[in-house]
Amino acid sequence: MKELLNQSISKIHLKLKERERACLELIEFMFEKINKSSLNSYITTFESQAKARAMEIDKKGDFNNLLTGIPIAIKDNICIKGFPTTCGSRILKDFIPPYNATVIDKLDKAGAIFLGKTNLDEFAMGSSTENSAFGPTFNPLNPEYVPGGSSGGSAASVGGGETICALGSDTGGSIRQPASFCGIVGLKPSYGRVSRYGLVAFASSLDQIGVLTRCVEDAAILLETIAGQDDRDSTSRNVSVPFYFKNLEPKVKGLKIGLPEEYFGEGIAPEVKERVLNAVHTLEKLGAKLCEVSLPHTDYAISTYYLIATAETSANLARYDGVRYGYRSRKWEVGSGKWEVGSGKSEVRGQKSGVRGQKSEVRSQKLKDMYEITRDEGFGNEVKRRIMLGTFGLQSGYYDEYYLKARKVRGLIAEDFENAFKEVDILITPTSPTLPFKLGEKTKDPLQMYLSDILTVSASLAGLPAISIPCGDFSGLSIGLQIIGKPFDEQTILNTAYAYERA
Ligand code: GLN
Repeated sequence: MKELLNQSISKIHLKLKERERACLELIEFMFEKINKSSLNSYITTFESQAKARAMEIDKKGDFNNLLTGIPIAIKDNICIKGFPTTCGSRILKDFIPPYNATVIDKLDKAGAIFLGKTNLDEFAMGSSTENSAFGPTFNPLNPEYVPGGSSGGSAASVGGGETICALGSDTGGSIRQPASFCGIVGLKPSYGRVSRYGLVAFASSLDQIGVLTRCVEDAAILLETIAGQDDRDSTSRNVSVPFYFKNLEPKVKGLKIGLPEEYFGEGIAPEVKERVLNAVHTLEKLGAKLCEVSLPHTDYAISTYYLIATAETSANLARYDGVRYGYRSRKWEVGSGKWEVGSGKSEVRGQKSGVRGQKSEVRSQKLKDMYEITRDEGFGNEVKRRIMLGTFGLQSGYYDEYYLKARKVRGLIAEDFENAFKEVDILITPTSPTLPFKLGEKTKDPLQMYLSDILTVSASLAGLPAISIPCGDFSGLSIGLQIIGKPFDEQTILNTAYAYERA
C-alpha cells in the first residue's frame, strides 16, 4: 500500500479499476496512518463512514470516474451535511450543517471518499495553523515547524501521507503558503471559478476554495471536478471549465514568464530566492522566455488586504451571536434572565418601572450581554483582533480614510497585474518570503505573521489564479514557487507547473 503514496491519482485509479487493490484496503491504510499520527492534521475523522463507502464502491465495481474511491480530506470550514464544521473555533464547536457545500456534492458524485475534516486557523485567519481552538498542526517534514496556514491541516495531511489529496480555502494565501511549507502542490483558482456555497465566509470578496495535492496532475483532476458556475453562489462565474487534466501538457516553449522585481528584493531569504531562480532557469532551458516586470503597488498589498479582509470579517462574523449557531455562553440560563456569575448586569430582572420604553431598553441590554459574553468566550484572540480592526476601519469618520482608500488601492493593484499581463503570459515569484518558521516564533507579533503573506495577497486582491509547487529545500525544509496566471487561465499555470515538475 505504501507505494501508492508516491503515485498520482490516475495511477491509483488504474490499480483500483483493474482490481489490483481494493478501495477498502486503501482506506484502511489511510486510517492506520491517521490514527498513529501526531501531526494533529484532522479535527474530525469519518473512519466508519469512509470504510462503508469503500466497501460499497468495491462491491459496485464502477470505476469510470478518476476520483472514484480516492481518499480526500476537507478543510473544516467547508460544510458536509450531518458532520461537525468547526472552523477551528470554539464558537462553532458543536455546529452541524444541514447541507453539503457544492464542492462536496460534486466530489461525492465523482465517488471520492471523505476521510475527515482538517485543522485550520480559526475561521481561516492566520498563516501557521496555531490559531486553532483544537491545538496547532505540525509540519510533516519537521514537527518543530509550522505547516503554514490557514489550510495547515489539509497541507500536513497531504504532505504527511494521511490522505491522497485535500480541499482548502484561500483568502490571502491559505492554500499556497501551507502547500509551500509542506512540500506539496496548492492551487487557488480565479475568484468565481469554484462555487463557495457551503464555505463558511471569512472575507467574501477574496475567499476561494482550492486544492492541495502531491502532484500537478492531481490538482488538474480535482479542479476540473469542483469548478463551474453554481446558482447557489452568485459570485461563481459562468465561464466554461476546460478539461484541465486531458489538456495538461508539459509545454513552455515560447511562453513569456514575468519576474516581478518587487518580489525578489529586500526581505526575501537568499536560499528562497536562489531556489526559485534556479527553477525559472530550468523553465528557460525548456524554451520559456524571461522578462522582468514591475508591480509598483506591491508595497501596499498587506495593508490593503488587512483592511479589506478585516472589514468583511467584522460583517461576516456578526452572525455568531449565541442565538442561531453553535456555542452560547453557559453563564446564560435560558429563561432566567440572570447571569450565573456576577457580570454586574444581572439586576435587570427586578426592574419594573412600568415605563414601556425603559423596559424594552432593559430587555435589549440583557440580550446584548448574552451576545457579548458568548462572543468573548467563543472567539479566539486573532478573530477578536480582526473583528475590532475591521469594525474600526468601517466606522463613519474612518470609512473614507481606511476602507474606501483600501478599495481604491485594490483597484491599482489589479491594474498592475493587467499591465504586466500585456507583456507576459504568467508571473513567477516565491510563494513565501522565508522558509517555514518554528512553532511559537511569530505568535506574539501579529504584524510579523501578517507579513508572511506579502507574496500571496496581491493575487487574491486581483482575483487571479495562482499555484504553489515545490522547487527545492533547505535544511530539510521545503521551498515553494508561485505561478500567477491571467483571470480564468488556470490551464497555463497548470501546464507550466507540470513542465517544471517533470523536468
Ligand atoms: N494568512 C492570511 C490571513 O491571515 C490569509 C488567510 C487565508 O487565506 N485564509 O488572513
